[in-house]
Amino acid sequence: MIEAVGLTKRYGDKLAVDQLSFTVQPGQVTGFLGPNGAGKSTTMRLILGLDAPTAGTVTVNGRPFAAADNPMREVGALLEAKAIHGGRSAYNHLLCLAQTNDLPARRVGEVLELVGLTEVARKRSKGFSLGMGQRLGIAAALLGDPKVLMFDEPVNGLDPEGILWIRNLMKTLAGQNRTVFVSSHLMSEMEHTADHLLVIGRGRMIADCTVAEFIEQNSEQQVRVRTPDTERLSALVTAEGGRVSAEGTTLRISRLPLERVGDLAFENNVRLHELTALQASLEQAFMELTKDSVEYHAAVPGGQPAAGGGPGSPSDVPFDNPSQKVEA
Ligand code: ADP
Repeated sequence: MIEAVGLTKRYGDKLAVDQLSFTVQPGQVTGFLGPNGAGKSTTMRLILGLDAPTAGTVTVNGRPFAAADNPMREVGALLEAKAIHGGRSAYNHLLCLAQTNDLPARRVGEVLELVGLTEVARKRSKGFSLGMGQRLGIAAALLGDPKVLMFDEPVNGLDPEGILWIRNLMKTLAGQNRTVFVSSHLMSEMEHTADHLLVIGRGRMIADCTVAEFIEQNSEQQVRVRTPDTERLSALVTAEGGRVSAEGTTLRISRLPLERVGDLAFENNVRLHELTALQASLEQAFMELTKDSVEYHAAVPGGQPAAGGGPGSPSDVPFDNPSQKVEA
């Protein structure tokens, strides 16, 4: 379990992490969501003791991680995809880590198998693709068989197969009652992976809830209707306070429950060819919730902000603005 109380980190004028209090429980995948620059990596570094908090505390299994006797047995972490010594093989890289951390050498073969790198384990890692590099980083994180795992943006740049593999791995690890804490700025990713969500914006906690609660609380239910009589149904819905947008014979209705839309049609003899409840995706809910906390909106042609698009935005639109990142 990871526990933070009033965790705060300031870099000069910049409050990167602002009084975060949360717990990350074992047995489930906890997604750590926020636009770029929200403070996710900083929080993870604070958990690992790689940076000291300005205020507040954070513990792993009840103690500051810096005090751990055998760190790799306690926490496995994949921070940004890091270059390993390119001339070294995956096997030697892991063996070296095992030896310096007092871990049995047999773990090397086990984790290589687990991440699917056995066949290339003796090759120099210089030729590794991004996906293979990620797998190697994960192998290193798993080496000490730790109860707590942290992954910072693990699917960045991976192909669909790699993404699916990581998703399944997270779920498997959580199923083994480990604590799995994974950050992402992509909603669609968390929607499929996480059980619980911590959402932050500008260093502050915005939401701490399950994925289902998050969607329910932050997204508007809509109803899609197909009818040959769009005009009449639109008028009826609007008269009851609903909002309608029309496209051909299809209406999208908000602010009125599905049942009421159906009843209205029935009571007024309007023929329906479809009546469907639409639930906004996590992506849309997240954009809605964090649009005020995105530091900078990337300009796109036409002058519209790329973020905060709400319903109808293309999926997987990241809150991408690399220029806001200050490289440490
Ligand atoms: P995220 O991981 O959510 O993208 P970060 O934790 O990397 O966010 O960054 C949070 C904020 O803190 C950003 O505004 C970033 O520019 C700033 N920041 C991070 N690390 C440093 C540092 N070493 N020095 C100064 N500012 C930093």
